[in-house]
Amino acid sequence: MSDLYQKLEKIVSEKYISNDIYVRHAYSRNVDIALQGIPDIVIRPKDAQEITEILKIANEENSAVIPRGAGICEFGGSKPIGDNGIVLDLKRMNNILNLDKENLIVTAEAGISWGKLNEYLCHHGLYTGCMGPGSGMSASIGGGISHHSVGGGGCAKYGACTNQLVSLEVVLPTGEVIETGSQANKHSKFPFNRFGNGPDLAGLFCGDNGIFGVKTKVSLQVFPKPEYAEYKTFLLPRKERIVSAKILSEIRHKGIDVYDAMYIMDLLVRVGVDQGSMPMYENLKRKRGLIFYTIEANTEAELEEKAKQLDEIMIKNKAENVGSEISDGNIAKWHYVEQGHWQFYHNLWGMVPSNQPLTAESFCPTNKYPEILNDIDQWDMENNENMQKISDITKMRPIAGSGPILLIDGNNVEITCGFTSFWSYFDGEIHDVIQETNLKLWKSLLERVTKHGVQWYMMGDFMSRLMVDIGAYSEEYYNFMKSIKKILDPNMILSRGKFNFWGDK
Ligand SMILES: Cc1cc2nc3c(=O)[nH]c(=O)nc-3n(C[C@H](O)[C@H](O)[C@H](O)COP(=O)(O)OP(=O)(O)OC[C@H]3O[C@@H](n4cnc5c(N)ncnc54)[C@H](O)[C@@H]3O)c2cc1C
Repeated sequence: MSDLYQKLEKIVSEKYISNDIYVRHAYSRNVDIALQGIPDIVIRPKDAQEITEILKIANEENSAVIPRGAGICEFGGSKPIGDNGIVLDLKRMNNILNLDKENLIVTAEAGISWGKLNEYLCHHGLYTGCMGPGSGMSASIGGGISHHSVGGGGCAKYGACTNQLVSLEVVLPTGEVIETGSQANKHSKFPFNRFGNGPDLAGLFCGDNGIFGVKTKVSLQVFPKPEYAEYKTFLLPRKERIVSAKILSEIRHKGIDVYDAMYIMDLLVRVGVDQGSMPMYENLKRKRGLIFYTIEANTEAELEEKAKQLDEIMIKNKAENVGSEISDGNIAKWHYVEQGHWQFYHNLWGMVPSNQPLTAESFCPTNKYPEILNDIDQWDMENNENMQKISDITKMRPIAGSGPILLIDGNNVEITCGFTSFWSYFDGEIHDVIQETNLKLWKSLLERVTKHGVQWYMMGDFMSRLMVDIGAYSEEYYNFMKSIKKILDPNMILSRGKFNFWGDK
């Protein structure tokens, strides 16, 4: 047993630390099939104090530490880069600490899931607005804040989950604990505002992908859930990419307050129906692309007025209502009423058996996405030879493309794009050529999409280093980020290697 293990074991009880080979392998991956890094130790602290002690020892021993919430990053963000280090599993820290009903703020430990938090809030008629990511049933709020997550519902109205952030408690890489926002004033009794008391230091940790500190407590604004809601789904006419972008843009230009608006491309509808993974599409007359909206209101009149304005936009753009019931294909109703917002992506990703996604999530202006989707098709054709190397073995070609396009705050959308492929273990054998080709294609696609100027918000192991390797950051920006990292984390122990921050040792 290593010295490091023995020191760490004294901090948490034996039950919450392991160097067992099975446990280490269980923590060696995230969602993708291509990246693996086996940690030396997995540890499950109960509070900030224990994390402070763990980080101090990790600094003494020069060991990498990787914070992990639910571990469902798509770019290998919550497992080590290479085989080493300590995975800090935060899922034990999953308690709600306070609901300030008067000031509409909830404070919870960072390892809690969006699902558990919102289940608690709904008993008080409240919700978090942006419901986190589409993986919110298990994804943690700490992971969400570290990624600027968006996509789990409410994102057209509220934007990314970091928009609702009020205050953070963070353990810095050297072990000190800070609280941000109103809590920077030691006389403040409770968190109530993020901005002020100097620069927005909470913002430093938003979307940091776990490199600047370990979030231990998160205070978020909460909102009363409006009494009225409407949800409608429409079949798109031909040229659906352009038409959908036009519709989403018109919604913004008319200033209509939608809760969610989403474009689901025809390929996803067809495969969803063929595979039976989206039962609500079964009765669709034509397997075309879909667009839907969900809206909320405090009165019936307000709801009707918003629906009227939205329907006018749909009709003008020749989009046809599929019907009001889920069985008619009204995915908007399923999304809002049956919490499809937290199930949708799971259905998508299991759509073709044994195919796994090598994806990416980015933000871009609404009018830009048709061009990006067309270019992904073009990329797919250009890379046919490499795709063929995989299909020669698997007898099925990987598919490149995009998941649904979601309106977020501003006139921006979230695009999930990438390709689905096979794991190198196929039909009882390991095929190195699949692994090599997957990595090559994934890099090539992400580089291509990056050149459209998109903004990646989940970066992990893969995307954070790729941005540096392909020279996508401006030099000044990258150096600025590196200087902050060096000050906060002189030994570069926290999430070592992301953004190519490796340290000198
Ligand atoms: C089916 C499916 C659907 C998804 N849909 C979406 C979506 O709609 N939108 C979206 O944004 N993402 C989505 N994701 C990706 C991912 O689940 C989310 O980004 C989620 O927010 C990650 O949360 P997590 O708890 O799993 O974080 P992890 O994967 O454990 O960690 C994510 C990153 O944050 C760091 N981190 C985690 N917790 C902390 C902490 N407390 N302090 C400091 N750093 C920390 C990690 O080191 C890592 O870099 C989806 C994934 C799946 C599998």
